[in-house]
Amino acid sequence: MSENTAQPSQIIDVQPDYEVLVIGTGVSGIYQIKRLADLGVRFTVLEANDDLGGTWYNNRYPGARFDSESFTYGYSFSREVLDEWHWSEQFSPQPETLRYLNFVVDKFELRQYMQFGCRVEAMVFDEDSDTWTLTLSNGRSISTRFVITALGILSTPTEPQFEGKDSFTGPSFHSFNWPHDPIDLTGKRVAVIGTGATAIQLIPEVAKVASQLTVFQRRPNWAAPLNNAPITEGEMATIRARYDEIFAACDSSPGGFEHRPDRRGFYNVTREERLALWDRLYDEPGFGIWLQNFIEIFMDEKANAEFSDYIADRIRRRVHDPELAEKLIPKDHGFGIQRVPLETHYFETYNRDNVELVDSAATPIERITPVGLNTTDRSFEFDVIVYSTGFDSYTGAFDHIDIRGVGGRRLRDKWSEGPMTYLGLMTSDFPNMLMLVGPQTSATNFPRGSELAVNWATPLLEYMWQNGHRRFEANEDAELAWHEHVKEMYQGMLLRKAKSWITGYNSNVEGHEYGKTRYNIYNGGSPKYAGRLEEVAGNDYEGVTFS
Ligand SMILES: Cc1cc2nc3c(=O)[nH]c(=O)nc-3n(C[C@H](O)[C@H](O)[C@H](O)COP(=O)(O)OP(=O)(O)OC[C@H]3O[C@@H](n4cnc5c(N)ncnc54)[C@H](O)[C@@H]3O)c2cc1C
Repeated sequence: MSENTAQPSQIIDVQPDYEVLVIGTGVSGIYQIKRLADLGVRFTVLEANDDLGGTWYNNRYPGARFDSESFTYGYSFSREVLDEWHWSEQFSPQPETLRYLNFVVDKFELRQYMQFGCRVEAMVFDEDSDTWTLTLSNGRSISTRFVITALGILSTPTEPQFEGKDSFTGPSFHSFNWPHDPIDLTGKRVAVIGTGATAIQLIPEVAKVASQLTVFQRRPNWAAPLNNAPITEGEMATIRARYDEIFAACDSSPGGFEHRPDRRGFYNVTREERLALWDRLYDEPGFGIWLQNFIEIFMDEKANAEFSDYIADRIRRRVHDPELAEKLIPKDHGFGIQRVPLETHYFETYNRDNVELVDSAATPIERITPVGLNTTDRSFEFDVIVYSTGFDSYTGAFDHIDIRGVGGRRLRDKWSEGPMTYLGLMTSDFPNMLMLVGPQTSATNFPRGSELAVNWATPLLEYMWQNGHRRFEANEDAELAWHEHVKEMYQGMLLRKAKSWITGYNSNVEGHEYGKTRYNIYNGGSPKYAGRLEEVAGNDYEGVTFS
């Protein structure tokens, strides 16, 4: 690993090992590294995995791919990258996305800054020197002036704690930990537990090769067709010519996509007009069905119910067995109030003879056995069990590090009932720590949010160096005001009732029970969020104390 020797804080008496330390080498970390390398700062990057890529390094299950259009997901910061990279599909599969991230890293020679196999277990802030000391799982300790976390919102998988889980004699794993030497499921009896976004991508692929696939579903999820397609050379040339327009459209839309809500007003058009819009959107690629819809769908129970009925009918048309179709249609929440998974032949998969759906709400899994599992009314035998049971989202990766700030205060304690942040980028009592796309930032097409965060965090550090500061900290009153604003943005939205990571619900994590709402995301939309960030920076970082 090589280091650059320029040190913006050389006037400061105590010299930690590094000026800046980044944790994580996913989409967010990689762009942050590029900015720090360009500045010539003395920094390093710690990554728990054995290689870069974060989400796209870990999630190797068959069918793993974007729901974002590939060309809106890629970085916008480098014209050269935009000109040189060819996305082969509208919605890139995981291997290609991982290749893309490696391409960017190799192009800018960023790998030299990364230290792999380095899981951060603890971070302690020293108030005398205004530095952080990090301890890694191998016992190593490293000091730094500033920490930038790029830990990921979905990087901590959660598994149900079934009795006998370790007794199963075949392979069993969370889909996040899909084996790097791909496991051959041909002719195997496979169980998939869970029917969230990952399972919805995985199930059709497993069904194609497994002799028998049994899906254990506790709550069905709404899903709509991805309508993926290849991107030809000619189409890619058109995309390249449009990149400025594409990113401008993403920046000015609430979700960071080209899709924009239909603002005609749900009740201002006839039912026929609504149906015409929905018929068109259902057959179009990507999130249009969710994000080009009427905004009333997200706020008005009646509008949401009418649209949910429409989607339910589309599902009924795709599943041959009417009883089975009803089991696949959510009854406890409306379409679009949870993150909508996009699918390819998911519903048709249940028409296959080798696929069975088990209703785990009616007959719960009681225990895992050496040969399979028992529900309350049956015993099953499997060769492979896949847990597709989601993530301890947003705060999980933070909770797994023992982070101690001013006066030894633990972040885990501070956030025990939900995250408290200033702008989603810092948190009071934890000075000199910036969080990239952590809790309470705008929920958006991810890299659009990452670039925004990095483009705010980096100038803040430059401001500190220029002014000879060595410590920054969010003010408690500014944090409280932001928190109230974040809460307020949930109020008019149906998603406030969702059993999802938007509200912090996770039945496999203590303290995340339904009803204990955690305000994990900023719902005001990207333009409003970006505007607030710009305003704060323009006012000499109001709400932040420097010393
Ligand atoms: C299956 C799947 C599909 C997705 N599809 C989309 C999509 O279509 N569109 C979209 O916008 N978003 C999508 N997302 C969200 C996705 O997570 C982001 O798009 C993005 O990749 C996150 O990048 P990141 O760098 O912030 O975090 P991550 O990619 O999660 O990277 C975080 C890194 O931090 C490391 N790390 C965490 N804790 C520690 C520690 N204690 N010590 C050291 N290292 C640590 C992790 O190992 C990881 O490498 C998807 C997520 C999943 C799981």
